[in-house]
Amino acid sequence: MINLLDLTYDELSEVVKLEPSYRVKQLFAGLQSGYKISEISALPLPVREALGDYAVGVDIDETFRSVDGSEKYLYRLSDGNIIEGVYMPHDYGNTLCVSTQVGCRMGCAFCASGIGGLVRDLTPGEMLGQVLSVNRSHGGTIKDRKITNLVLMGSGEPLDNYDNVIKFLKLVSSKDGINIGTRNISLSTCGIVENIYRLADENLGVTLSVSLHATTDETRRELMPIANKYTLAQLIAAVKYYFAKTGRRIIFEYSMIKGKNIDYFDVVRLERMVKGFSCHVNLIMLNTVKEKNLQGCTLAEARRFSERLRSRNISATIRKSFGNDIGGACGQLRRSRINDKKTTEKGEKNE
Ligand code: SAH
Repeated sequence: MINLLDLTYDELSEVVKLEPSYRVKQLFAGLQSGYKISEISALPLPVREALGDYAVGVDIDETFRSVDGSEKYLYRLSDGNIIEGVYMPHDYGNTLCVSTQVGCRMGCAFCASGIGGLVRDLTPGEMLGQVLSVNRSHGGTIKDRKITNLVLMGSGEPLDNYDNVIKFLKLVSSKDGINIGTRNISLSTCGIVENIYRLADENLGVTLSVSLHATTDETRRELMPIANKYTLAQLIAAVKYYFAKTGRRIIFEYSMIKGKNIDYFDVVRLERMVKGFSCHVNLIMLNTVKEKNLQGCTLAEARRFSERLRSRNISATIRKSFGNDIGGACGQLRRSRINDKKTTEKGEKNE
């Protein structure tokens, strides 16, 4: 079945022939403001009834509000699956963390999203739907955006759902639509090397974030199964290509794990690795996942590591953490819903 939210304005005009033609504009504006077809009051009732269910977004099922202004969401998809998202207010704008898959098949040792494996890919309209639902919940519309920045860092591996993610990036940054510029969008990947090259060649201008998390292939293989497929040397070569092609500074994500990746030699190796291109290292305090037996480090240890990197002229900061009072993110909200047995792995409702 066709989903009108998957379509650009031009595609919508092709598919939905409405008279007079400004009706298509009204339909598009309504959808991009986060309304369901039945709620777009500018359209005559018979038109709304005829279009029925052809726009499938996501519904916010539950909102958790933090004292720091951030919010976490559990969204419900049309087939009952549950995904999660995080909204973070900053002085420069508001960022939404977007999920790209239900579950994930990358199986990283520290991450809750991969625990049940991949359930399915999200469609472009379902990724856009997250942005539109949250924008609307903050009183935003297509013209008056309440979300200015996106990070593709929710559940899922964006480069494992490549075509849908590219279409989503085009939809969400379209001048006709909600128009969040690609320069305000970061795509985070565990490092699917061939798709980093493809993404570079798309010339979209999104910021590339790479989940590095280790400075040797051996440690990276322990933490991230994808490291069995690509070595750090291959990953860094792809990252350099991305930088050369786009001129965009690369962001490395580095979750600090006790006894694994934050000693003196990691500093030395990291210094060698990041030579010759512009990058920043985002140090992340490990979010302890109860199903996993990895431990984070103390704030003092994190600061020491961060100082050591900076003393070698590596741009590095410890990432600000949001919403500590409203439960973990990184796939843990959905897991807690599954563990409460309110939902199964595949999103069926348990009564
Ligand atoms: N699949 C993508 C994006 C999703 S995860 C990727 O791998 O980059 C976003 C970031 O959060 C990644 O850097 C991921 O490694 C990190 N992450 C996942 N679980 C975490 C946890 N429990 N604690 C700290 N960081 C975590």
